[in-house]
Amino acid sequence: MKITQLSDTFLPASARAIRRVGAGRALRTAALPAAAHLVPSVLVLGQWWPEMAPPLRALPGGLCRWRGPSTGRPEVALTFDDGPDPSTTPRVLDLLDEHEMRATFFSSGERVDRFPDLVQEIARRGHEVGTHGYYHQRHLFRAAPQIVKDLEAAVAALERLRPSIRPRHFRPPYGQVSGGSIMAAHRSGLDMVLWSAWGREWADRSVDSVTERLLSHLGPGAIILLHDSDGSAPKGTADIAFEALKRILAELGERRMKSVRIADLVRN
Ligand SMILES: [Zn+2]
Repeated sequence: MKITQLSDTFLPASARAIRRVGAGRALRTAALPAAAHLVPSVLVLGQWWPEMAPPLRALPGGLCRWRGPSTGRPEVALTFDDGPDPSTTPRVLDLLDEHEMRATFFSSGERVDRFPDLVQEIARRGHEVGTHGYYHQRHLFRAAPQIVKDLEAAVAALERLRPSIRPRHFRPPYGQVSGGSIMAAHRSGLDMVLWSAWGREWADRSVDSVTERLLSHLGPGAIILLHDSDGSAPKGTADIAFEALKRILAELGERRMKSVRIADLVRN
């Protein structure tokens, strides 16, 4: 099944089912969660697309996005996953301030509950706070109702903050977009965002090659994946990402490009 077919057939059906029987009941029925898992093996490929020059920027309706629109504006979106982390996020915030760049932080709900002040600080400095789910668990092979519940808990953690943060964007852990992820995002009113450039700093210990990999996809509209925490990655991942970030920011300056929040990147 092609992704375009998927968006035409699966999504309206799930949305209709939810409207018809009510979200709670829809999720309790066996049929819909089962149907939701017909699609993960297709969409999970999305996480590999940066290496394959993706033909699509987004699924219709912005349900899952890999890049910004083709506006020609000299903008990219730096994004940071797995935080916040008091030992590694503040230096990222300071560096971004120094370069007058804005970014999006996909926070884990359980970390939002542990470090609420740091989440507020991220927002206060003008960055977007998105959600990475409550627990950092793979969506592939996970039942749809579990994913829905996890995402609702993640959104609730941000909404409990004072001032409250209402996230607009969601990045599933490991970039695994399953049918359950689509249902959960739809139910919580969030758009899913993956990325078009990654350094694989969790697997590659060389700052040079991480940076090179990122630079090779650093055109206008790029969505750049980095990590501001070792919370769900091998120790040292955030250090490698930070060193690569310094070089990426310098390069953006050279090219007279800006990093903006995802919400700003996707505006028309
Ligand atoms: Zn993650």
